Amino acid sequence: MDTQKLQILSWLLAPVTLAVTLIIHRNNLKMFLLKWWKALALFTFVTLLVAAYFNGRLAWLVRTVALPIWVWLLLVPAAIVLVISCLLAWCKPSTKEPLATDEPLAPDPLRYTEADIFGARWHWRYINRRIDNESLAAFCPKSHCKNRLELQDDCDRMDLERHGIPVKLVCLHCGFCKPFDFAKHDLLNRVGQEIERRLNTGEYVRELTG
Ligand SMILES: [Zn+2]
Repeated sequence: MDTQKLQILSWLLAPVTLAVTLIIHRNNLKMFLLKWWKALALFTFVTLLVAAYFNGRLAWLVRTVALPIWVWLLLVPAAIVLVISCLLAWCKPSTKEPLATDEPLAPDPLRYTEADIFGARWHWRYINRRIDNESLAAFCPKSHCKNRLELQDDCDRMDLERHGIPVKLVCLHCGFCKPFDFAKHDLLNRVGQEIERRLNTGEYVRELTG
């Protein structure tokens, strides 16, 4: 491919990339514009003014214009009213922006990283905003202990009719023991599902804020 074709391709790619970026980040962009539109407008105005000055396009401003007094009598009050109303509109906070006290924002779900589930205290992490089942760790629910629990196969309760060896969570510090009727993988899946359920129903908000 020669240089000219590459250049045309890059010209085509640039607006497409820009459009895709704008679409993906439209919510952030909207928030940004809502917050900064006054500063941006002022910056654009000043930039245009400076550019016009250096291009010599403001030379007409220093020319003298003679007008009849009755025109001045109309123009000056109108200009004063216009400037005052512009300043008032500029300084007045927008009524469209929701007030901070209207509806408290729900806490970020990613802050929900521990909970009491199935009789133990579970901690976990997220990968790409999804619960990482591999990171699930159980801790002793007793307030004076909080030791990490060990997941042990409970061979004594093994049942030939059931798949997998049932597990139990054991505290090696205080002797706490919590048996489960499912295998290790199932237990972690169930805990993951329970966390997901609390996130979906918004129950996590109460746990985080309560
Ligand atoms: Zn314990």
